[in-house]
Order: sequence, then structure tokens, then C-alpha cells
Amino acid sequence: MITLDNVSKTYGSGPGAVQALKEIDLQVPKGTIHGVIGLSGAGKSTLIRCVNLLERPTAGRVIIDGQELTAMDAAALRQARHQCGMIFQHFNLLTNRTVYDNVALPLELMGQSRQVIRERVLPLLDMTGLADKAKQYPAQLSGGQKQRVAIARALASRPKVLLCDEATSALDPQTTASILSLLQEINQQLGLTILLITHEMEVVKTICHRVGLISDGRLVEDADVGDFFTAP
Ligand code: ADP
Ligand code: ADP
Repeated sequence: MITLDNVSKTYGSGPGAVQALKEIDLQVPKGTIHGVIGLSGAGKSTLIRCVNLLERPTAGRVIIDGQELTAMDAAALRQARHQCGMIFQHFNLLTNRTVYDNVALPLELMGQSRQVIRERVLPLLDMTGLADKAKQYPAQLSGGQKQRVAIARALASRPKVLLCDEATSALDPQTTASILSLLQEINQQLGLTILLITHEMEVVKTICHRVGLISDGRLVEDADVGDFFTAP
């Protein structure tokens, strides 16, 4: 579902250039949860931002569901990005919009009718356990509830892929567990492919099928989660 083919990313140029990603090859099969772990500064965030071209790779190809994003013009890319939902460490909600209107936003931007929006948003609020929060504002919610809103919003365009950028790093252990089980449910019930980056080993152990280790911009290991944690 996701293929990174020889992806490199360099920030800046000349003597101050930072080679954040070095020739990354990564395959994430449809319906799997793939984790990438690594220390701070290893390149995790750059990696996940290169998947939906929030950050444009300096070299290499990014292919999602058979479509090469790195070969697209701006209009095609905007269309293809609907295949890719994303959630963040700090939720990135719009504070002046209600829960309902945050989740509705991507559909509004796609020009969907109020009725279609309603038919999509209400089931997503149900699924994420936010049915009674529709009219509240982000400031009235706990961290876990905010991340649920962000998840519902990420799913609104019915993506095939969900990208999670340190999605539980700002949450306490109990809330983390409940967000992880929601992600698992989304993977199992909707068949979504999930790519997540984290510095927390526990996250990877809990929900990932496969895990990669990134170190100094290189993917130095990529294995089934069982093999990864029992390896010598
Ligand atoms: P991680 O998410 O694993 O902490 P990042 O992908 O954020 O790692 O960073 C990888 C490397 O790229 C680091 O050396 C970081 O300082 C550098 N870097 C990240 N973003 C930028 C940027 N916008 N401009 C310049 N350097 C950057
Ligand atoms: P329908 O055929 O009525 O559109 P589906 O059987 O496709 O519904 O999906 C059932 C519910 O799950 C719907 O309410 C829909 O909003 C939600 N759903 C299905 N696929 C996705 C997806 N990829 N992302 C988010 N929500 C989805």
C-alpha cells in the first residue's frame, strides 16, 4: 500500500546541509500496522512527512496504492492526499471550531454537501466515542478526546492510509492505551493501513505488525514485531 523507493531527503545545501533521510526503502502492505522507531533526530518525522509529501523527498519515489505521488502535479497530488489521513502529537485541531466542525473540515474543503458531511461525520463521532461532544470546542476536551477528534477528522475523507506522527507522545499511559486500541479497531474494522512513528518502544510492541528502526537517517532494521524484539 505504501512504497518508499530509495527515498532521500536533504535539508538546505552546502556545508550546513542536513541529510535527514538516506536511501530509504520501505514497503507497508495493505492492512498492516507498521511502526518506525528511532531516537530524537534520527529522521522519523521527516520520513512520515515524506509519505504524503508534506516534505518533498530530494530523491526517490513515493508510491501509495499504486500511484506515484512523487510524479504528480499539484492538482493530482491534492486529490491523492485524500488517500492519506494524518494525526499529530499535538492534535492540530482548530480551536475556534466545534468537534463536529473540525471533523467536517476536510469534507467541506472537498466541496461535499451538508448532508453528505452529516452522514460521514456522525458515524465517525460514534466510532471514536465522541457522539456527545459534537458541540464542544477543543479547549473543553482532554488530550485523549482531542486525539480522537483528530482521528475522526483524519478518517473523514475515507483514506486508505493513516499516518501517525508521535500520536500518543503527549498522552499519559492510560490514554495512550485507549488511543492505541482505537487505532487497532480502525485497522481491523476499516482495513486501514497504518504507518506510525514513535520513540516509545511500548507503542510498537502493543499494536504494530512490523517495525523499522531508523538511525541517523537510515532504515537499519525492518522486521516482524516478534522477530524484532526477540533478536539477539
Ligand atoms: P526525528 O523525528 O526522528 O526526531 P527529524 O526528522 O525531525 O527526526 O530530524 C532529522 C534531522 O533533520 C535532524 O538532524 C533535524 O535537525 C533535521 N531537520 C528536521 N527538519 C528540518 C528542517 N525543516 N530544516 C533543517 N533541518 C531539519
Ligand atoms: P456506506 O456503504 O454506508 O458508505 P461503509 O460500509 O462503507 O458505509 O462504512 C461503514 C461506516 O464506516 C460508514 O459510516 C463510514 O463512514 C465508515 N467508514 C468506512 N470506511 C471508512 C474509512 N476508510 N475511513 C473512515 N470511515 C470509514
